[in-house]
Amino acid sequence: MFQAVYGISRGKVDVILQKLKSSGTKFPVSDCRGCHEPINKMTEERNLMRSHIDKYPKYESHYTRRDSNGIYLPSHLNMKKMYDEYKNENVGKGGSYELFKLVFKETGYKFKKPKIDTCKICDTFQINIKQCKNEIERVALQRNYDDHKAMADFAYLQKKEDKESILKNNEKTVLVFNLQKVLNSPSISTNVACYKRLLATYNLTIRDCSVIGGTECYMWHEAIGGRGSNQIASCLYKKLNSLPPHVSHVITDSDTCGGQNRNVNMAIMLSLVTSVRDTLKVIDQKFLLPGHTHLECDADHAKIEKAKKETNISLMVPRDWYQFVRTVRGKKPFKVVVMTQQDFYSFSDFLQSELIKKNTDINGEKINRLQIKWLRFQKEFGIFQFKYSLKDSDDFRTMDWRRNRRGRPFSTQKRSLNLSYNSSLPINQLKKKDLLSLLPLIPEECHQFYEDLATSHRSFGNEVYESEDHSEGEDP
Ligand SMILES: [Zn+2]
Repeated sequence: MFQAVYGISRGKVDVILQKLKSSGTKFPVSDCRGCHEPINKMTEERNLMRSHIDKYPKYESHYTRRDSNGIYLPSHLNMKKMYDEYKNENVGKGGSYELFKLVFKETGYKFKKPKIDTCKICDTFQINIKQCKNEIERVALQRNYDDHKAMADFAYLQKKEDKESILKNNEKTVLVFNLQKVLNSPSISTNVACYKRLLATYNLTIRDCSVIGGTECYMWHEAIGGRGSNQIASCLYKKLNSLPPHVSHVITDSDTCGGQNRNVNMAIMLSLVTSVRDTLKVIDQKFLLPGHTHLECDADHAKIEKAKKETNISLMVPRDWYQFVRTVRGKKPFKVVVMTQQDFYSFSDFLQSELIKKNTDINGEKINRLQIKWLRFQKEFGIFQFKYSLKDSDDFRTMDWRRNRRGRPFSTQKRSLNLSYNSSLPINQLKKKDLLSLLPLIPEECHQFYEDLATSHRSFGNEVYESEDHSEGEDP
């Protein structure tokens, strides 16, 4: 009625009310037409905005450095949030959102995408250098920081070179692998499921970077196997045994996550497969720097997550996840390899029989396993070559883990592998209870699967059991 009488729109009324509210007076507020701020006021606002933006913590990201200046703000921030905080902290001072956006653009900063990890070592260096009062110490810190960055760049370039080299040589291939974060079942779009413990499906993705290669997802769920070092090694073992016979040299790239990649069981498996498989001559296991690790399979994982978000499809049981991943397209469709208990081996058993773990090399010199960047496996089972860098020019040192160096030769052909498991793994009792409580939301043909899950007598602490980090498995 009011609007009709005065012939103004609802929007205009809202604006006037908003202005009255924010000015805190009962008097009409000027609409600012014809009273634009002078230029120097604008400069002051710009400076205020700039110093506000500079207050936020910033990160440097290295593998993106090549295409940008690489300065990132935390991923939980966005332009609107920053502007709101600016207005809150500078009450009475002006500056439009448009101007704020302009000032932000001039800084060249970007918001960190949650996918991109920053490196803890880099972050620590940056803080320490900033806070260091002593000039000599500061220079030393800066030099160490530069060395670290150079090493990260070198690892990145090395991987690139390896990938280029296999294009001309089909006897060689590069395998890049990483474990995806847990995929939960049932995955249904109802809030109820958010508060329940769900069944975990694991996916170890291996990208074969050769021309004929592609992405393979090795998938299983928690009643089939865990996600420790024996299980990760078992997936790689299956992959290595399925390589075409013309491949004699394999390079693997992974991050240095100890529990899964840089560990004893993985080393034993790689040594075993090289010694047993006739066509394989060399496996080079290379480790990229944590925080600087841009692995091709991480992009594959992002594709799976994006496809899932876009379809909003319900995935009731782990089998539905396997099927879903098959529908995700990279350059080629993803191949899914479903892991059964017959595929999971206990490589650690060799430490009871033929091998013995040693902390020194063959010259009796101590080994710092955390510093190992490159392991090389050749025909002799139990002998590992290693170096602390990824440089071709640096020499390998040698470890010999064989128990019995003299006497009868080892017969690798007769070596038998023990399975990790002989029955389904029990799941957490509370988790089973939660899963059964969701049955009314799940189609009947899937009920049996959940009803049949065995439970352990022990009820695990939820947090530890559900942990997303890669803490399971043995230290390097
Ligand atoms: Zn770093």
